[in-house]
Amino acid sequence: MKNAGKIDIKSLLISELQEELCDLAQPSYRAGQVTEWLYKKRVDAIDKMTNLPQSVRTGLTGKFSLSNMDIVRVLGVVDTTRKFLFRLADGNLIESVLIPASPALYGEKSDRRTVCVSTQVGCAYGCKFCASGLEGFSRNLRANEIVDQIIAIERATNEKIDNVVFMGMGEPLANFENVLRAIRIVNAPWGLAIGARRITVSTSGLAPQIRKLAGEPLQIRLAISLHGATNDVRNQIMPINRRYNLEKLLSACDYYVARSKQRLTFEYILIADVNDSDQQARLLSGHARRLAAKVNLIPYNAVSGLPWARPSANRQEKFLATLRAEGVPATLRREKGHDIEAACGQLRLQTKQAAHA
Ligand code: SAH
Ligand code: SF4
Repeated sequence: MKNAGKIDIKSLLISELQEELCDLAQPSYRAGQVTEWLYKKRVDAIDKMTNLPQSVRTGLTGKFSLSNMDIVRVLGVVDTTRKFLFRLADGNLIESVLIPASPALYGEKSDRRTVCVSTQVGCAYGCKFCASGLEGFSRNLRANEIVDQIIAIERATNEKIDNVVFMGMGEPLANFENVLRAIRIVNAPWGLAIGARRITVSTSGLAPQIRKLAGEPLQIRLAISLHGATNDVRNQIMPINRRYNLEKLLSACDYYVARSKQRLTFEYILIADVNDSDQQARLLSGHARRLAAKVNLIPYNAVSGLPWARPSANRQEKFLATLRAEGVPATLRREKGHDIEAACGQLRLQTKQAAHA
């Protein structure tokens, strides 16, 4: 692996860079020059930071690497949802999705560009409906590998990204420190300068980490992948529910809302004959009202080899209508990525299957 052993410079916060530069007997404004090169000019080598003295560049190169993500495949065309498959320095594959003109999902309605980033290679949580969990867990992504997904997409498309959702492969809260670090870099004025309210983290329900996140002074949005309004339904499709059942999860959500003063979103995939009954809709309404949460309904995206299907359009609308009748703010996602295997983990899986065929 190239640069083995060195920390990537894009995983440092500006205060840490300042310390490093201080060690090299440099004034603290040098740190701002470095972040300008990294996040505004997006150079691909420390040596290209031409306003730094050569001795500083050599000093930094001796200690740090500067990663660049290789794009292996792109699916989709301009102005539609595009999916990017990346190869990491160690050969692992990860994917990100670029969604233009994001509908009213996690922010206000606008023509903004949203990137959905991965946080792990694979996923250990093994939700029964999800392609990312199918091959198990390989490793956590480092902070720079998360930030690089956004930078690489901005470079490849020449478009500024305004929203980031942590909904790609992996469970963000199981990679807590690296994800938080990446969020700080994405959010910082010296970094990618994307507002905290335009950053959403999604979790399958790691109750202790939800409480931990509540203690962080961040204004980011949190989405909970609920996918079932009872333990019976969640146990069928989400093994995490055996560790943190619905009561534990909802109580962590109560704590999060009280402590952070932020509203939550429940994500709820609609899977035919599993979680799409009127009764589930009514119980879900109760949970959402308790937390003043919004609900995003997502018709299930079929994964080859898995037995689940999305309900009929009628059933989807009925589920939505039940939530609304109960006074819960809810949206039903009109699928954008359906044609290009856009659900989490699907492109990687398909590429690996083709490679093995
Ligand atoms: N691990 C985190 C974030 C990544 S998954 C989590 O589970 O929340 C992001 C979202 O995509 C989750 O809500 C997940 O349940 C959903 N998802 C996974 N597979 C899907 C599929 N085949 N169709 C639709 N949504 C899917
Ligand atoms: Fe992991 Fe999220 Fe997929 Fe579940 S839905 S297997 S937690 S990525």
